[in-house]
Amino acid sequence: MQRPGPRLEEPVEKAVGPKTAKALHKLGIRTTGDLVRHYPRRYVRWGDMTRIGQLHEGEHVTIDAEVVQATVRTMRSRGGAMLQVVLRNHGDTIEVTWFARHAGALRYHEQQLRPGATGLFSGQVKSYRGKLQLLHPDYEVFGPDELEAAVARGESERPRPVYGLTSGLQNSTVVNAVATVLDTLRVEDVPDPVPPLVRRERDLATADWALEAVHRPVDDDQRRRALRRLRYEEAFVLQAELARRRARAVAQAATARPGRAGGILDAFDARLPFVLTDGQRAVGEEIAHELAADRPMQRLLQGEVGSGKTVVALRAMLQVVDSGGQAALLAPTEVLAAQHVRTLRAMLGDLAAGGMLGGAEDATRVALLTGSQSTAARRSALAEAAGGAAGIVVGTHALLSEHVQFADLGLVVVDEQHRFGVEQRDALRAKAGGVPHLLVMTATPIPRTVAMTVFGDLETSTLRQVPAGRAEVVTHVVPASRPAWVERTWRRVREEVDGGGRAYVVCPRIDATEGRAAKDDGDGADLVLDDGPDVEQAEAEAPRVLRAVTEVAEELRASAALQGVTVGVLHGRMSPEEKERALADFASGAVPVLVSTTVVEVGVDVPEATAMVVLDADRFGVSQLHQLRGRIGRGDRPGVCLLVADAPEGTPAQTRLATLAATRDGFELAAVDLELRREGDVLGAAQSGRGTSLRLLRVARDGDLIAEAREDARALVEVDPELLTAPALGAAIEAVLAGERDEFIDRT
Ligand code: ADP
Ligand code: MG
Repeated sequence: MQRPGPRLEEPVEKAVGPKTAKALHKLGIRTTGDLVRHYPRRYVRWGDMTRIGQLHEGEHVTIDAEVVQATVRTMRSRGGAMLQVVLRNHGDTIEVTWFARHAGALRYHEQQLRPGATGLFSGQVKSYRGKLQLLHPDYEVFGPDELEAAVARGESERPRPVYGLTSGLQNSTVVNAVATVLDTLRVEDVPDPVPPLVRRERDLATADWALEAVHRPVDDDQRRRALRRLRYEEAFVLQAELARRRARAVAQAATARPGRAGGILDAFDARLPFVLTDGQRAVGEEIAHELAADRPMQRLLQGEVGSGKTVVALRAMLQVVDSGGQAALLAPTEVLAAQHVRTLRAMLGDLAAGGMLGGAEDATRVALLTGSQSTAARRSALAEAAGGAAGIVVGTHALLSEHVQFADLGLVVVDEQHRFGVEQRDALRAKAGGVPHLLVMTATPIPRTVAMTVFGDLETSTLRQVPAGRAEVVTHVVPASRPAWVERTWRRVREEVDGGGRAYVVCPRIDATEGRAAKDDGDGADLVLDDGPDVEQAEAEAPRVLRAVTEVAEELRASAALQGVTVGVLHGRMSPEEKERALADFASGAVPVLVSTTVVEVGVDVPEATAMVVLDADRFGVSQLHQLRGRIGRGDRPGVCLLVADAPEGTPAQTRLATLAATRDGFELAAVDLELRREGDVLGAAQSGRGTSLRLLRVARDGDLIAEAREDARALVEVDPELLTAPALGAAIEAVLAGERDEFIDRT
């Protein structure tokens, strides 16, 4: 993550042969710097070796064992070969298998693993036909006395790195490649982004020491110290960037938008059909106060699903309109942008009919700008934005395009932020002459450490309450393998429809032409399976075919339970008009069952919807399911959420589903989610693409460290906002931002 010295910018080919280089490229390792930042995934110690008789399925183990038997077999029909080795220690045996396309590829292993050889084998224990086995383990073979000698030298306690691998790459190859680089590295090749003062205060090792020790620790203490230092570095670089961003933003002048008594906001409040919750009122005051200041507001509004963030945002926008400015509302999808326009216009009534016959005094206009609208519609929206007739301009990414101009942009509201990168926020703010105020709304509650990491440059407001009188929603997990239960699900949908409700049915895929979801078993081994003895295994490991929108829609149309009920579809490959139409028909009740992808996940607001069925629910994350469930129970009718899945007892998927069934509290769910998820998911996919810069940091575990780094970073930025005293830090930040830009481009 740190910007390397020239030595670490060399192509990885400098350190390894072309074949290894090719394999490393598959892991995204292109430079020697990338290679030394390819930290071990875990460590094993010879001293921790397990007895074969005590192995359990699923665990990563290292065993020392003797080879009893080794046989290469060619598989019949489709070709390919396998090497089967039987290992023994302490009187127990286990089978180890390697597959390859040709027997020749297995000769090397066969020569190494002659009966009588002893060695260390590490890998994950799998079960095949009820018997435990190791598949493609990593191993080192020793002469008869070598292992004992090493143990005697005390080397058995040394943590040995285990790296993330890909096919064609052995752990020992990575060990050697890393060693080649580390051996020639000088201190000046590893600039340290953490300033000496901070290192001293927090008792942190230097960068070059940490790089050496993370790959080649002599003991656990070194390993821990190296990891702590590298984690801190990741947090610190990120927090420094956030602190700098924040400092820059608040140092700029913004136009104060104090609002105006007797204006459009007052008129709106007077006709609001409900009473604001205490939370809405408190947060509203906070925002009103900040908008009235001549420093740009930088606020994150996070709230429970259905807590009424839209009203809060609208009231802020109206205050800006009352002050002579405009507000832009940025939505993640066209469906949501269009819905926002409908909702805002409906809430505003004649207050949104500015300049039109029948428009109220003080009225403004709400314009919609999306990428796919007709030229005429677009032209008129552009004119309303540029001329100032539209006080509120709602749009998708299209709002960021150069052609969009505002008369006086005073406030930017970003809805469901996690779909937007930081860059786009900036692009939109750049459209205002000065710095506009900024309000970011998240789709779901997020834990404090995530907020600190992802939105560390923003102050946070939270809406915990949902408006009183919100209907109950019960959640059940339905076992997908039990036809009777699934059948009951569709009958339940029928009951909801007959009672005047609507049902969403969500599937993970659009249709069968989409690639099967690859099963990622992490070891990337290139398996070649025969239909001989290994068929069962092939089936057990085959990717599951996930339910698809078009397929399920047809099934439901043909099903007895839904006879006479119109079933619609909604997914990302439909045109904007088709999507609009599908949602409108669903909302009106003309098509009361809507089979869709997760395009309905965020924000879609159809109060009559009472049922949410999610197929292959184990494939979705907690917050995603919570969002989906948030689509129902929005009116006064109770709702039912049915999560259809087969998640074996004790798996994370099962815990996720059980937790969802047990609570509707988004903050509680967010905390559980964080515990369950692996990092990349929390920050990379779900948030704003911090995946590549945070390799070691775990927000669930490293909250304290993140808080420390934030404190240090803010202190540094306060005295040295441009980081002139910490050039290596500035460079490290640049490297992170460049990575994020690349990642963002990849994702769009
Ligand atoms: P979210 O925070 O999930 O974006 P919305 O802003 O879409 O929630 O609000 C959900 C629903 O609750 C909307 O239909 C909205 O009109 C309604 N609502 C918002 N605030 C209140 C309130 N104080 N009392 C009753 N209903 C409210
Ligand atoms: Mg919303």
